[in-house]
Amino acid sequence: MNVSGGQATDFDAMIVGAGFAGMYMLKRLRDDLGLRVRVVERGEGVGGTWYWNRYPGARCDVESLFYSYSFSPELQQEWEWTERYPTQPEILRYANHVADRFDLRADIAFSTSVDSARYDEARECWVVSTDDGAVSTARYLITAVGCLSASRVPDFEGMDTFRGPTYHTGQWPHESVDFTGRRVAVIGTGSSGIQSIPQIAAQAAHLTVFQRTPNFSVPAVNRPLKADEIEQTKSEYDQLRQAARMSPSGTNPADPIGHVLELPDEVRTREMNQRWDYGGAGFMSAFLDTAVNPEANEVVAEYVRDRIREIVGRPEVAELLMPRDHPIGTKRICVDTDYYATYNRDNVTLISVRETPIDRITEHGVVVAGELYEVDDIVFATGFDAMTGPLNAIALQGVDGVMLRDKWIAGPRTYLGIASAGFPNLFMITAPGSPSVLSNMMVSIEQHVDWVADHIAYAREHGIIRTEADPAAEETWGDHVNEVANMTLYPRAASWYMGANIPGKPRVFMPYVGGVGAYRTLCDEVARDGYRGFNLTTRNDVSAAGDIDAKTPVPADS
Ligand code: NAP
Repeated sequence: MNVSGGQATDFDAMIVGAGFAGMYMLKRLRDDLGLRVRVVERGEGVGGTWYWNRYPGARCDVESLFYSYSFSPELQQEWEWTERYPTQPEILRYANHVADRFDLRADIAFSTSVDSARYDEARECWVVSTDDGAVSTARYLITAVGCLSASRVPDFEGMDTFRGPTYHTGQWPHESVDFTGRRVAVIGTGSSGIQSIPQIAAQAAHLTVFQRTPNFSVPAVNRPLKADEIEQTKSEYDQLRQAARMSPSGTNPADPIGHVLELPDEVRTREMNQRWDYGGAGFMSAFLDTAVNPEANEVVAEYVRDRIREIVGRPEVAELLMPRDHPIGTKRICVDTDYYATYNRDNVTLISVRETPIDRITEHGVVVAGELYEVDDIVFATGFDAMTGPLNAIALQGVDGVMLRDKWIAGPRTYLGIASAGFPNLFMITAPGSPSVLSNMMVSIEQHVDWVADHIAYAREHGIIRTEADPAAEETWGDHVNEVANMTLYPRAASWYMGANIPGKPRVFMPYVGGVGAYRTLCDEVARDGYRGFNLTTRNDVSAAGDIDAKTPVPADS
């Protein structure tokens, strides 16, 4: 079939995005199933989030030995991570190594964006339009667009009048940015702000941080990895990876020691001290009750406030840095290097814009409460239209002409966070309704990709040409996602998990809180039950599947 004027453009599967999800999806479908696959990637290279987020201090908050693929024993043995937490350049090198090692680039169209995709019911395929003018068809469309890839700058008045350079952490320039001798503003104190602020402060003449909501942050205690610990982990990888797959968050933190409210003060404090000194997000799994009980949560929150009091020299600055509007852990915990201590520097000023928001941006800087803060550069660490943003950016049209963004107008609706009713043969990697951003993304990505690949293999074996989430199953899943979220304190925070950072975005808790292990078991059961909750249509069920079928052979026994 030729729909783009001279060039054959039909594929068995098209994948949007060449981050870690898209790369592994390509590998599974092409190398294990023998499908003709095309990946479309808007960047010039692989790596997804790690291709774009090049801001100073960008580093993963999951330990490097576990923020890596587990699908290839050879790959995980041969790759050498150098630090406990990997820097963005190191992760990008790893992504490029994977692309080369498995010869993935040949099937990726770089610098190309998918503008729209329409499901053609007559031919049971997706018709995909890209910004180079090409129109391609594919039986399956898989979105691997990332959860935090639609960066967002608030609509500040006067933005265009600013005379200096502006940056967004999620779209950082590829060439290095030198702040030496400059007066810099950072707006936003989420993970990206908290990672970049210490590094920018160390370089700039002066840094002014504009903080609307203080966040809880724990020290990373990053360090170079020792040869013997790398060797030890590599020798135990099979067990460690399996434990991570079945854990709540896809990582291997020390087990909780009990319910904080049932423990004597000295035991609680000793445990929190140990975890604080050890570093990392494992601090949050010290106790069993902090995610569900406000009183328990407050014990841990107050511990962190005490640490802030201790670290930050000026009490009034320490007070401003203490989060009080949300339970700890209900916004993604930040993992930092020297964040709070940075406010002891003479060249750093913290401006709270909580009570008095930023009025406007002028030619010379940022105006708050009528006062101009003059700066040479502005860094927007203002986050993303998370989870739904990248999907809604594509004009995805399902059956009866329904657009996904219209179906999701009151919030995303999915079955298992992987498919959406009315959008046959569309699979979404780590979409709303799956654990995704509440987990080690690598673990969640591998689980979704494997599940989708296994389903497509099953479909081909059984002559299934159309897989579609059943509306009733989708509704039940949505209710379950909400019910589990409401058992926790998560919905109490105005977080991007809730869509609360985007004016007008529906307040719906998007990720699945049930844990990656429980979720994996559920997805496996659905598959074992012949894909319970999906409507499967075989070739025999449809009268005219069109010539696309001739290009998508299924085994003769189907
Ligand atoms: P974010 O958590 O959404 O933080 C955005 C910040 O910008 C918030 O402090 C927000 O304040 C502020 N902001 C937004 N609009 C504003 C306005 N009009 N005026 C003043 N301040 C405004 O975004 P992020 O820091 O990029 O992090 C997003 C997620 O990416 C993280 O939660 C994490 O999952 C991921 N991430 C991970 C890593 C890592 O692995 N280490 C690093 C970076 C990011 P409010 O809170 O008041 O809205």
